[in-house]
Amino acid sequence: MSVTANSVWNNCLAFIKDNIQPQAFKTWFEPIKPVKLSENALSIQVPSKFFYEWLEEHYVKLLKVALTKELGETAKLVYIIRMENTYGNREPFTEKIPSANRGNMGPQEMDVPIKSKNPELRNPFVIPGIRNIKIESQLNPNYNFDNFLEGDSNRLARSAGMAVANKPGGTSFNPLLVFGGVGLGKTHLAHAIGVEIKDKYPDRTVLYISAEKFTQQYIESVKKNTRNDFIHFYQLIDVLIIDDVQFLSGKSGTQDVFFHIFNHLHQNGKQVILTSDKAPVDMQDIEQRLLSRFKWGLSAELQSPDYETRISILKNKLYRDGVEMPEDIIDYVAKHIKTNIRELEGAIISLIAQSSFNKKEVTLELAQQVVEKFVKNTKREVSIDYIQKVVSDYFEMDVATLQSKTRKRHIVQARQLAMFFAKKFTKASLASIGSQIGKRDHATVLHACKTVDNLAETDKQFRKYIEDLTKKLS
Ligand code: ADP
Ligand code: MG
Repeated sequence: MSVTANSVWNNCLAFIKDNIQPQAFKTWFEPIKPVKLSENALSIQVPSKFFYEWLEEHYVKLLKVALTKELGETAKLVYIIRMENTYGNREPFTEKIPSANRGNMGPQEMDVPIKSKNPELRNPFVIPGIRNIKIESQLNPNYNFDNFLEGDSNRLARSAGMAVANKPGGTSFNPLLVFGGVGLGKTHLAHAIGVEIKDKYPDRTVLYISAEKFTQQYIESVKKNTRNDFIHFYQLIDVLIIDDVQFLSGKSGTQDVFFHIFNHLHQNGKQVILTSDKAPVDMQDIEQRLLSRFKWGLSAELQSPDYETRISILKNKLYRDGVEMPEDIIDYVAKHIKTNIRELEGAIISLIAQSSFNKKEVTLELAQQVVEKFVKNTKREVSIDYIQKVVSDYFEMDVATLQSKTRKRHIVQARQLAMFFAKKFTKASLASIGSQIGKRDHATVLHACKTVDNLAETDKQFRKYIEDLTKKLS
């Protein structure tokens, strides 16, 4: 007997009917039409988006069980939403949406050792006084491996992440440090590893936290005199994921507690996953002993995605949102936004929005407008590293010379210009600028900015430098 969409769906219905109230069955399952079966994916048509959301929210588990019984583990469910078009006399249009099939992350309960010296161990995530230790993993289930598309640019990091997820604490990738520029998927990958671990090892306690929040909690604990509780809490975690560790730069107190937590976890075979916008060698103001720990495991880079990967990311996004878009538009977006996946997604979302709000067809012209606006608006903030590079190139010296302690006039001027532009073009504090440009203090940076302002008024040659460099940097 051949298997068809109809036969599969009828068997599913028989199973579902046995498992829910008759009224619910009538309301939510009778109106569904099986449409297509291909490559183990069953497409079912539902009458509205609300209907689809209701099914996903209340019956996704049941659907999954039913479908797996019929089609095996690799079964997929695709919803086709048929909407009556109220505009003009166009055909009703359809949207295709894959089943997400993923519940929210529940809280994790943790047994605190009875002998614990500290029976009132405080969880920095909850209001003091609550004793029951329930730890929210803080993971976002929408950031998973299924929708983290693979390409040359991320293959190493992605597969290292997979390896860690398969055997947390049991690979030599400990810590796993994922680094790369803005919008290249560090946060997404970090969550994906955690989400995968929770799937495979529901009993492990996983915690995702940004380095910034970690720092705030630490500062809070110092204020409240609960520093030890803070440390103990983190030492109980099985898989600790800290996002954007570059944020710890210059924060020696936080680095110090993190060092202790890290050592404890590492010695006990617990997994640590870190992300950073820089490779360890380029990290500024992170203690040497911590840097050397970072290098114990594996550092894997996320690079800018190549053209093919950009295309598949865009197509996947459209697929997940149930929107169809002409190939030439997708191609145009992929060709023009190259270095940042967040911008790539932003542009396509903006196109989807434009076309659905204005009921406009997506034309190449519209795509051009959106991409142009997008690229302009999100022009990235230049980094202090980049400024130093541009200034030293301009004066034909290397960055080390620019940062050196020498008092030679032309080098001092170059350094002062770099500080001046760092103040002008970045949001970094004077102290942070100083420490990144040759380990100077904030007063030196302030002095540099004043000197540059003065020279700009009095020295024609110097004014020319400023104009040239401003052009190069903006
Ligand atoms: P970062 O933390 O490096 O700044 P994010 O993890 O926030 O970057 O990623 C930016 C956006 O790009 C997110 O919406 C993420 O889902 C998406 N993204 C990044 N890499 C991929 C990928 N390989 N496949 C699909 N989406 C991706
Ligand atoms: Mg991030």
